Amino acid sequence: MYRTNTCGELRISNVGTSVTLAGWVQRVRKMGGMTFIDLRDRYGITQIVFNNEVDAALCDMANSLGREFVITVTGEVAERSNKNKNIPTGDIEIIATALSVLNKSDIPPFTIEDNTDGGDELRMQYRYLDLRRATVRKNLELRHKIGFELRRFLNENNFLEIETPILIKSTPEGARDFVVPSRMNPGEFYALPQSPQLFKQLLMVSGFDRYFQIAKCFRDEDLRADRQPEFTQIDCEMSFVEQEDILQLFEAMMKHIFKYVKNIDFTEQFPRMTWADAMKFYGSDKPDIRFDMKFVEIKDLTAGKNFSVFDDADYVGAICAKGCANYTRKQIDVLTEFVKRPQVGAKGLVWLKIEDDGAIKSSVGKFFSEDELKVWADRCNAVAGDLILILAGETMKTRKALCELRLEMGERLGFRNPSVYAPLWVIDFPLFEWDDETQRFYAMHHPFTSPNPDDIKYLETDPGRVRATAYDMVVNGVELGGGSIRIHNSELQDLMFKLLGFTKEKAQEQFGFLMNAFKYGAPPHGGLAFGFDRVVSILAELDSIRDVIAFPKNNSGRDVMNEAPAPIDDSQLEELCLKVELPLSK
Ligand code: ASP
Repeated sequence: MYRTNTCGELRISNVGTSVTLAGWVQRVRKMGGMTFIDLRDRYGITQIVFNNEVDAALCDMANSLGREFVITVTGEVAERSNKNKNIPTGDIEIIATALSVLNKSDIPPFTIEDNTDGGDELRMQYRYLDLRRATVRKNLELRHKIGFELRRFLNENNFLEIETPILIKSTPEGARDFVVPSRMNPGEFYALPQSPQLFKQLLMVSGFDRYFQIAKCFRDEDLRADRQPEFTQIDCEMSFVEQEDILQLFEAMMKHIFKYVKNIDFTEQFPRMTWADAMKFYGSDKPDIRFDMKFVEIKDLTAGKNFSVFDDADYVGAICAKGCANYTRKQIDVLTEFVKRPQVGAKGLVWLKIEDDGAIKSSVGKFFSEDELKVWADRCNAVAGDLILILAGETMKTRKALCELRLEMGERLGFRNPSVYAPLWVIDFPLFEWDDETQRFYAMHHPFTSPNPDDIKYLETDPGRVRATAYDMVVNGVELGGGSIRIHNSELQDLMFKLLGFTKEKAQEQFGFLMNAFKYGAPPHGGLAFGFDRVVSILAELDSIRDVIAFPKNNSGRDVMNEAPAPIDDSQLEELCLKVELPLSK
């Protein structure tokens, strides 16, 4: 028998029992005639003791063990004289009577400790060793627990988990497809699903009124911190529902997860905010509402004083940083540099301080009188001790920059504590998004999203003002998921395709099977999908989803451990009737 117990299990109540443990050697310490080994497995670490005076041969064997050797040890559980309060097994140790080496190990390229000495690239190359570290392992344990609780909740609410295919025809989620050549159909390609969107809608036509799937999705996009080319969705769809039914059910699901995974009770309804308000007050469709600091528009108060920065701007917006009037010139310079970064994109920063005695100081004091500045301050609800920061320019761009500045100030003021959760629904998204470059409308969510019934009348005359029946769940400034009520009427769907610039033939070619299915009694339906990796990373209090994925890809979409992607053999290419021509720069 390799083991009777795990390395995380034994306590003072086990003293006197004979046990066998198996695991990896974390550390060997020699002190006088004694040798101590920290033995590790998935469950914890237990100290093993070898006494040279009792059994010199066994002790020699222990001294010869290297880091990460796999061993099994038998001995008696004893109370430790020198207790370690930092680990759950710290009151006991095992007095070894037998030891056998199950496998040797090369010296690992980094230490398997919480604070390892391994850099990112090295840890990814040896991800199987990185996963031995408790910090990374805990993230995967959390992921398992969340997945388990999700399934429990959805099962209790009558959802069926149904798998949909991976080799499919393209789904329109707005990204590039990954494609797979078909050997049996030369010259033809499958796409990998960007989401199971079309299949889940077809399942509604089939009468499965509550579907879910923890589904792998693939999008060939440029990668950012919270993006991976393959990721996992908690994908859901329901029939005979309106937006309100969906919001309530999935709010209950998130509350269930918070309760059973984090022991956090949300008793109130999650706040709801329209997309228009989110943009107006936070400059983002995923506002972080852990703190207030809403935007205040002051363009109307600034006109006609020959201050061209404001006069030429479509938009002048302010935020009030409470208690920050003591910011030094240097600190404000740092903020100015921050807003001028290309990722933020502002041209400069205007500030206004209300000193403790009520006097107002401002970087635009030359252009505006103290009385005029006082009116700005009043509109911002600023009082003595507050600092007002102002950006001006084109509306959308300036709102975006002010959003970044607000988040930066929130960070500096300690308002963005990852263990505080502020969920919210963003609703009433626009149906279409205008693209200047291609001079046409795109679906903001996807082409199957239903317009708000009140706005259908504007579809053909003023598409830009049509709201969608679409919603996102946002937590701490991160979009955890989103979805919509779908169009289930084929005429409306045809019109939608037309407005999105699809010819009849193109729509038929891409989505004919869905349009056909809709002719056979499609029920009203809607759904949403959560980014599973994001849900886990938020609950793990991490910024990036990489640390909650067992084998993630790096920023160039590579798996540095198994070296994918890689070229394939000429014979494989031939079989697939493919020829590769690399661009000259390669
Ligand atoms: N398929 C959508 C997405 O991946 C979610 C949905 O509409 O249910 O964003």
